[in-house]
Parts: sequence; C-alpha cells; structure tokens
Amino acid sequence: MKKSKIYFIGAGPGDPELITVKGKSIIERADLIIFAGSLVNPDVLRGRKKKSVLHNSAEMDLEEITAAMIQAHKEGKVVARVHTGDPAIYGAINEQMEILDREGVEYEVVPGVSSFLAAAAALQRELTVPGVCQTVVLTRRGGRTKTPARESLPSLAGHQATMVLFLSAGMAGKVQKELLASYPPETPIAIVYKASWKDQKIFWGSLKDLAKTARKNKVDRTALIFIGKALGAHGKKSSLYDQNFAHGFMTQEKKT
Ligand code: SAH
Repeated sequence: MKKSKIYFIGAGPGDPELITVKGKSIIERADLIIFAGSLVNPDVLRGRKKKSVLHNSAEMDLEEITAAMIQAHKEGKVVARVHTGDPAIYGAINEQMEILDREGVEYEVVPGVSSFLAAAAALQRELTVPGVCQTVVLTRRGGRTKTPARESLPSLAGHQATMVLFLSAGMAGKVQKELLASYPPETPIAIVYKASWKDQKIFWGSLKDLAKTARKNKVDRTALIFIGKALGAHGKKSSLYDQNFAHGFMTQEKKT
C-alpha cells in the first residue's frame, strides 16, 4: 500500500485559480483537510471529496491540529494542511513540522503563490527594476510577536530596498516613522488589501502619507504595505532588452 502523507499546501492569496495544480489535486483526494479559516478562501476547497473531513485551524490549538493530522495519517488517510499564500512565509509551519518529526511522520510542503506576489501583480509593478533596486525585503514590524532587534525597520530601511510588510497595516503610523529614518518622504508606497480577492483594494501614496492613507481607508488587516522607489519606476526599460546589454552578455557567455 502507498504510504499516506501529510501535505502542507499553499492555498495561494485568495483567488481560487491561484492555487497550484498539485495543491488542488491533493485537496481533491484528501480525507482530512485542516485549513486556516481566517485567510484561506473556502472556494479553494470546492473540489474536495464529499466525505472528506474539514477542520478550521482557527478553532484549534497546535496540539489539536497535529494530533488530528497524526491520527488520520496512522489510519492511512491523505491529510491536507492548507495555509494561506505560501506556507514558508509567516505560515507557522515550523512548530507543526517539529512535532511531526518527533513522531516520525512523513510530510511534504507544496508551495503556493504568496500574497506579496499577488499584490505585486495587482500593482502591475516589478519589484526589482534594474538601476533602481535589486533587492526585496519581506518583513513585518514587531508587535505582539517580536522581531530580532537587528531586523528593526530603521536598520532594514538603510538599504532602501523594495520593502514588503506583512502583518503591519495596523501599525502604519509607526512603520512610517521608522522608515522615514532612511527612505525619502516622497518614496512611493502602496497598500494592497485582500490581493486577488473580489474585494481587493489598492491605495497608492508616498511614505510621508502612509499612516493617513491606511487610516483614511480603514485598512488595518489582510493588507500588505509596499515601499520603494521601484514602485514609481513604471515604464523604465529593463537593460535586459537593451541591445548593448544583450550583446555584452552574449560575448561574455561565449568566452566562458
Ligand atoms: N503565508 C502568507 C502570509 C501569512 S501572514 C503568504 O504567503 O501570503 C498573514 C498576513 O499576510 C496578513 O496579515 C497580510 O499582511 C498578508 N496577507 C495574506 N493574504 C493577503 C492578501 N490576499 N492580500 C494582502 N495581504 C495578505
């Protein structure tokens, strides 16, 4: 008999068409599905088997979640643990995997489209514009969950990279103040609420108005804050399409 497995699946950012083919096919054959009810669009579970058992992880603690997964696994069932976006980004899968490791239970992680990528798509922006910015910082402002001091926003701001803040829309005032330590006040910002959902909203502004933009539009959750010069570089031609660049690159290739 084929050994059953536990799958951590990235459900994608919301739009049910933005789950991977692999994630969808596992959901379709899963016997037990545990999903993050607060953020996963229930529509991604639409193809599940009628007799599959469905749990909302928001109503369970870590022990209950892992106990349910291990029990089903022991019974030879296929388990889908469905996380929002990609499970590796603020997915809290580490503590679940530790318990499964301890119990000797096999699992696999199936990636998903993270919300920051869906938001970038909605903004129609490249986050890495040549000559402007080649680095993306994904972070959050420390709140109830602390971030290490060396990752404080003022220190990360020093790079003036394209920055994407998760879990921080409710602290837009503090974010603005801390980022102004390095980013110029006119740096473009965007707040993307519920990227890829039907009620998605985008708010553009500049860093000096970040807090006002969040407050005025009442966005304090399920939103990402984007900051960086790259957001304003729309239309700037990438050197990849520059003839000289392509030529130089090919010459170099031939040499090696
Ligand atoms: N693993 C997820 C992130 C989970 S943390 C991912 O890869 O996207 C939850 C935070 O992610 C939210 O507070 C919000 O900041 C962000 N988020 C999740 N889905 C979102 C969406 N559709 N639009 C905007 N932000 C989203």
